[in-house]
Amino acid sequence: MATDHTEAGTGPNPGDRGTARPVVRYGEPVLHRACAPVERYDDALAGLVEDMFASMYAANGVGLAANQIGVDARVFVLDCEDADGERTVAAVVNPVLILPPPPRELAVDDEGCLSVPGAFTETPRSATAAVEGFDPAGNPIRIEGTGTLARCLQHECDHLDGTVYVDRLPAKTRKRMLADAGLR
Ligand SMILES: [Zn+2]
Repeated sequence: MATDHTEAGTGPNPGDRGTARPVVRYGEPVLHRACAPVERYDDALAGLVEDMFASMYAANGVGLAANQIGVDARVFVLDCEDADGERTVAAVVNPVLILPPPPRELAVDDEGCLSVPGAFTETPRSATAAVEGFDPAGNPIRIEGTGTLARCLQHECDHLDGTVYVDRLPAKTRKRMLADAGLR
């Protein structure tokens, strides 16, 4: 996910050992199909996660899914804040998104995506969200979020199912945004 503001990190970050790879744009088939579950928690996965952090930071993103660098694997990374300004930095493997039962509170806020560069649009999302999955070593993890973090969890899980956030917007809005981004 992208935001229209960036903040400088402090200290060393994950991704320092990784290589930033190009982010694929909306329209590339790898972004529009569900990703494959990760089967092995090995060095290759650890290397992928490092490259994903490096790619996300290089692009000033707050979240990145593996298929955004062309890799068919259910992994995302994020570095963003919740509604209280508390920062979460995490890599989640084989995530499962958990939303509150309806009727759920919606938050409408600007959302953007590194795969649709430069475009931001108000997008309704559940105001809270949780994800359960595994860290790159295979340990179970759970992340609960509000604010930007909740939005990011939903945005990245969407990516791994082949949905880009603009796919959730009215067709007219989506076409204009893709045209503005020079993609269609
Ligand atoms: Zn995105």
